[in-house]
Amino acid sequence: MSKLKNPDQAKIDKLVAVHKKHAANRTASKLFASIQSGNKNALAESITLLESTREQDQKMARELLLKCLSVSGKSIRIGITGVPGVGKSTFIESFGQYLISLGKKVAVLAIDPSSEKTGGSILGDKTRMTNLAINPHAFIRPTASRGSLGGVAQRTRECVFLCEAAGYDVILIETVGVGQSETAVHSMTDFFMLLMLAGAGDELQGIKRGIMEMADGIVINKADGDNIKKANLAKAQFQNAIHLFPANENGWIPKVETTSAVENKGMDVVWNLIESFANQTKINGSFDSNRDEQQLYWMHESVKELILNSVYQNKSVQKKLVALTKKLRMKEISSQDAALELVTYYENGKTKI
Ligand code: GDP
Repeated sequence: MSKLKNPDQAKIDKLVAVHKKHAANRTASKLFASIQSGNKNALAESITLLESTREQDQKMARELLLKCLSVSGKSIRIGITGVPGVGKSTFIESFGQYLISLGKKVAVLAIDPSSEKTGGSILGDKTRMTNLAINPHAFIRPTASRGSLGGVAQRTRECVFLCEAAGYDVILIETVGVGQSETAVHSMTDFFMLLMLAGAGDELQGIKRGIMEMADGIVINKADGDNIKKANLAKAQFQNAIHLFPANENGWIPKVETTSAVENKGMDVVWNLIESFANQTKINGSFDSNRDEQQLYWMHESVKELILNSVYQNKSVQKKLVALTKKLRMKEISSQDAALELVTYYENGKTKI
């Protein structure tokens, strides 16, 4: 066998060396400057840093996040949800390009709870938003692929601040899959949009009433061809149904619109709707107070995440857990008592330190 390296391996080694050198010279200040200058690679690299579990990466990520926070907040954050197949990706492709035609910079983020199980993002498996993805004024980042939904949601929220520091005016956050991530997305966005189809019953669409009540706007997609009449009828029905919901604290009455994402129709109407929402809620103060409440909500979520990690990563707690699990299986202890014993054990250990 020849001792010569194959040319591909040599190329890989060279790339790895360049990457290592780059990583070694990396600082939060340098990354921040690159992000602010609009460098998409720096933005992607910073998000990877945020998602990294390495302690030194985390330290730099925190430092960077703090810098970004000081210049963040200027975008409008829009959550987009709806069952698979309703046309979310197609809508974002069309809506994103429309916004860019208005001179805006658009970032697209996603939360995919299924990635927790599969260890990877389904976004990566699908060719999505192909035109938007290559547009210099758009930035598309698939969901983080590691961690619990809470952890992934936290990272996505932090990505929002990074994207805002990078000058993105509109941040679209999509939920992928059904039923789990809506609340998380709702808690990090200013405007929550529910995409629906005409003619399919609510049950069929897997939409819980609670999710409809969270929506600031309902968009009936696929209003094209033979579907136009049905879509207009559904629009009237939903608009009537909305009046039966409890009034929003912010005084905003949710609106219903129709779109055809494949035919690029209705994008202006949806944007006008979001703009009037932003104007109205900024005037009555609820836009900012909502963001303040979200900060508080995420602080509590962070506390939960930190405590959970602290408990479960503690080596002696892990041993105790094994013992308690055995007792639980033998029905020698109740779940509640086991939990109490574990937490007491953890707390006693803490006070000893
Ligand atoms: P997602 O799973 O919600 O992201 O949905 P996709 O964007 O992948 O769309 C699912 C299917 O619906 C695709 O075949 C799209 O081409 C189609 N679709 C999306 N939007 C529209 C629309 O406005 N009209 C019609 N007729 N089809 C659409």
